[in-house]
Amino acid sequence: MNLLAFFFFIFGAIIGSFLNVVIYRMPRLMPLGLPRSRCTNCNKIVYWYENVPMISYLFLRGKCSNCKTGISIQYPLVEFVTGLFSLFLFFDWLEHQSFLIFIFKLAVFSIFLCIFMIDIKHKIIPDGLNIYLGLLFFIYSFLYLNWVDSLIGAGIGFGITFGVTWIFYKLKGQIGLGGGDIKLFTALGIFLGPLGIVYNITVSCAVGAIIGVALIALKIIKSNQHIPFGPFIILTSFVQVFFPQVFKLIFSY
Ligand SMILES: [Zn+2]
Repeated sequence: MNLLAFFFFIFGAIIGSFLNVVIYRMPRLMPLGLPRSRCTNCNKIVYWYENVPMISYLFLRGKCSNCKTGISIQYPLVEFVTGLFSLFLFFDWLEHQSFLIFIFKLAVFSIFLCIFMIDIKHKIIPDGLNIYLGLLFFIYSFLYLNWVDSLIGAGIGFGITFGVTWIFYKLKGQIGLGGGDIKLFTALGIFLGPLGIVYNITVSCAVGAIIGVALIALKIIKSNQHIPFGPFIILTSFVQVFFPQVFKLIFSY
């Protein structure tokens, strides 16, 4: 049992190692498979033993073995977090007895984490991630949900956010939500359904506004600076997808 739990932690950490590749390469439009990873500073090839999740970072003391340039703490952190969540999902799997659900949840978590990191760093959400997420939710809906709810949910996710963005643009000439945000809401609507997506839009906008104002008040960002909205959508969705009871408890619906 303990050994099995440990295996799922390691399994998640290896997935996390791949997610680091996605987070680095996808916004740069680089292929996800080959070529092999290189140091971003001196271009030295990263050998397999320098690429063991978390261990290598400690072993290399967070520096490239050739040029000694610092390696971002993001790498071991993404591996650790994914390992931890895989472990959590393993116990969830024992409880619910469904391997399919385990795979589904780990895949959704992986896409959430990539969107979260990429949007913070590059202020974009790659179309590919929204498409994979939409496909996953579509399959899930086909197997377990009412497809009418999913269709209406996606329609609302797209309709409200596109409509508000359009009106905002007509009135002020500014683009509020990016296209990536609108596509993300559309994909989420498939899984969350009509009521869930309305909650998602409301809560992520509220949280985004509060944190945005707080960051300006604390002079961490300037008032005209654009902050990515994706991370707020992802945080809200994370609670809603993986801890729906908690979400329902907080917002009593
Ligand atoms: Zn280097």
